Amino acid sequence: MLNRMESTRTEPLALRALAGRTALVTGSTSGIGLGIARALAAQGANIVLNGLGDAGAIERTRMEIEAMHEVGVHYDGADLSMPSAVTGMIERTLSRGGRLDILVNNAGIQHVSPIEDFPPAKWDQILAINLSSVFHAIRAALPAMKSNGFGRIVNVASAHGLVASPFKSAYVAAKHAVLGLTKVVALETAEFDITCNAICPGYVWTPLVEKQIEDQAKAHRISRDEVINTVLLKAQPKKRFATVEEIGALTVFLAGDAGRSITGTALPVDGGWTAQ
Ligand code: NAD
Repeated sequence: MLNRMESTRTEPLALRALAGRTALVTGSTSGIGLGIARALAAQGANIVLNGLGDAGAIERTRMEIEAMHEVGVHYDGADLSMPSAVTGMIERTLSRGGRLDILVNNAGIQHVSPIEDFPPAKWDQILAINLSSVFHAIRAALPAMKSNGFGRIVNVASAHGLVASPFKSAYVAAKHAVLGLTKVVALETAEFDITCNAICPGYVWTPLVEKQIEDQAKAHRISRDEVINTVLLKAQPKKRFATVEEIGALTVFLAGDAGRSITGTALPVDGGWTAQ
């Protein structure tokens, strides 16, 4: 299935690279965020899941990750379109164990439409979730990271943080801005053991992309298969979707000791898209 890691049992906790760390992954009830949460848990991090969805399904996922990887897994249902909810989520995470070591700002939404028809309310919602929530989360998390002397911030941006495509004005604007914010945070935290980087995936097959296939088919008046081959993967020279496991593995790398000197970067995972 789309979101499942291989169900391999993991090493004893003490031997795992991120044992004892606490990681909050926004938008981790689905897709890339869930893949990242599973990958961090496999390396021993305690996890805070966040995102929307069916309460029963989220609880089953929470229990499954906890049991499979023998780490603590909490769920916080904050709606990231509201600044006070973002701040509250960070405060609840810190009040539980006093630590937030790894912050992954991943939640995001999309809307595909020509600018003339783009609903202003959608523009506001996309900027609130894809951009402003990243600022509010980082702003609330940094004091504790500084006093703990450790922090790894990973912003899941997009190839659309580096280049544009038509019909995605709000998304492209927000993702470009996330890359700017990433650089500023990297500079402001450079003298602490804190890093801030952005991952820029090309197309990864998740529910977000599944919905776009329908929307793009309408916008271009073509079939699903044509959308996949002539629109989505057209710009991705490898002609395959990246996987959530690949994004999870890169996040683990950035969160671990080997990532200590990598900061302020935008790392494409896009099958060569932005090399063109
Ligand atoms: P997805 O739709 O599968 O998951 C999005 C997650 O965000 C879900 O958990 C959802 O509940 C959560 N979310 C949405 N609105 C929220 C809100 N108001 N409050 C809290 N949580 C909310 O999408 P995905 O494809 O996994 O995308 C994850 C991130 O990766 C996004 O930032 C997206 O822009 C980025 N991205 C995705 C792709 C891709 O091809 N899938 C490519 C580049 C970048």
